[in-house]
Amino acid sequence: MKAAFLRAHGGLDKVEYGDVPAPVAGPGQVRVRVRAAALNHLDIFVRNGIPGISLAFPHVMGADGAGTVESLGPGATRLKEGDEVVLNPGISCGACEFCLRGEHSLCVTFHLIGEHVAGTFAELVVVPAVNAGPKPKGLSWEEAAAFPLTFLTAWRMLVTKARVKPGESLLVIGIGGGVSLAALQIAKALGLVVGVTSGSAEKLARARELGADFGIDHATADFSREVRLITGKRGVDIVLDSVGKATWKRSIASLARGGRLLTCGATTGPDPEEDVARIFWNQLTVYGSTMGTHAEFADMLRMVAAGRVRPVVDKVFPLSAAREALRRLEEARQFGKIVLAVD
Ligand SMILES: [Zn+2]
Repeated sequence: MKAAFLRAHGGLDKVEYGDVPAPVAGPGQVRVRVRAAALNHLDIFVRNGIPGISLAFPHVMGADGAGTVESLGPGATRLKEGDEVVLNPGISCGACEFCLRGEHSLCVTFHLIGEHVAGTFAELVVVPAVNAGPKPKGLSWEEAAAFPLTFLTAWRMLVTKARVKPGESLLVIGIGGGVSLAALQIAKALGLVVGVTSGSAEKLARARELGADFGIDHATADFSREVRLITGKRGVDIVLDSVGKATWKRSIASLARGGRLLTCGATTGPDPEEDVARIFWNQLTVYGSTMGTHAEFADMLRMVAAGRVRPVVDKVFPLSAAREALRRLEEARQFGKIVLAVD
């Protein structure tokens, strides 16, 4: 089968396109004919090499995908051939103490499609049957591939961790990436007041079109001061910061008393300066979050299927141009998800 894959870790030049052996569905797994796959920062981390993870090369990249069930492994009975599905990228063992609590993304062997195992940048991918959910009918294949990882991540942070309520205020740091746009859309659908930051006037304008209530240019202004001006010195109830080192302290300074800070990543570095006094005095809560559970995936999928949120597709490349697609992601030029079409 055709695939975008790695034979070694390194830069963009290590991303190859060509033929690799097709995967075979084992017990409880299904083989899916991929129609579209979407890029995530994870793909860049995997390409560069993640400490502690050794891959079997050639390694097919890609965590997000949508397609049709092509064949079923032994014991995979819930689905049938031809079913149109979207894939939950998180794979859990189902048997550890955290899985038994239903906390699948805390699983002791938790891993993602395309991270430790072969991914979606291919004509065929094998996944556990429980990871295949119904494709929302109103979405194109490109849109269907564009939302699982980021919408699941944003859903868990906002709904399960922060337990957001209608009317609360949320500030999303760095609008334009997949998780930040998913958070903006989900939060607006849940009735929150949402502000966004970006260094790009164009991205701020596009976020306003998607429903953002206010936008702050974080390239020219200290966004925490702007937040205080906009909220009459109060601050916002929730900040979502997956940027890390470059913005963390200002994110904390943007919170109202009793506020919640959400993080699912640290693209500018994992070791920010910390304002501990502000955390205890203002009684702030920091929530770390990764991916989500099967139940959260199902809940999120219902909201997408109901048409209350719609994934934003930045640009579609053919699978053969995976290297160019990854370059666009690495240069942070996208607004929304970069998708690979697979025929
Ligand atoms: Zn487990």
